[in-house]
Amino acid sequence: DDRLIRAEGLIRSIPDYPEPGVLFRDITPLLADADALRATIDAMIEPFAGTFDVVAGIEARGFLLAGAVAIAAGVGLVPIRKAGKLPRPAASVDYALEYGTATIEAHDDIRPGMRLLLVDDVLATGGTLQAAHALVAELGGTVVGTSVLMELDALGGRAVVGDVHTVFGA
Ligand code: IMP
Repeated sequence: DDRLIRAEGLIRSIPDYPEPGVLFRDITPLLADADALRATIDAMIEPFAGTFDVVAGIEARGFLLAGAVAIAAGVGLVPIRKAGKLPRPAASVDYALEYGTATIEAHDDIRPGMRLLLVDDVLATGGTLQAAHALVAELGGTVVGTSVLMELDALGGRAVVGDVHTVFGA
């Protein structure tokens, strides 16, 4: 697909951000381009069209995509947020980072039996999406699919998260 090839070319690589030795993938030039954004959002939805009731977006860059995915797919959106940001969290999951730990939370708008599409920007080690799966399970929801804009193959996240649809790789 020519539009996706062009969109991929808009992803920028920034050396030594946020710390020395890390090559950061910056998707903001892709987001700024109307045609690239539309093609990417459509590609994120395509394998799962009609199979989910709601999109769960992961803070913070996942939010930039999840709203667009929800509107394009004709469903609603629930946020999965870092600890302390939601006024009435109903579930929370701790997970390990390279240094230390993090916590994500969700409201009980994720209901038993609800079918969710998880959305995030980048799959790295997979820890974040693994925790998101556990969070949805805690609230009785069902993850019908996981859609990520870009996968960093070398970091092995796919082995941790299992089945994940990614539009671009690196
Ligand atoms: P993981 O938990 O190691 O898979 O890291 C995934 C999370 O870190 C995602 O929520 C991403 O937003 C963020 N992340 C990791 N690497 C990058 C990057 O190169 N660009 C943008 N976000 C990244």
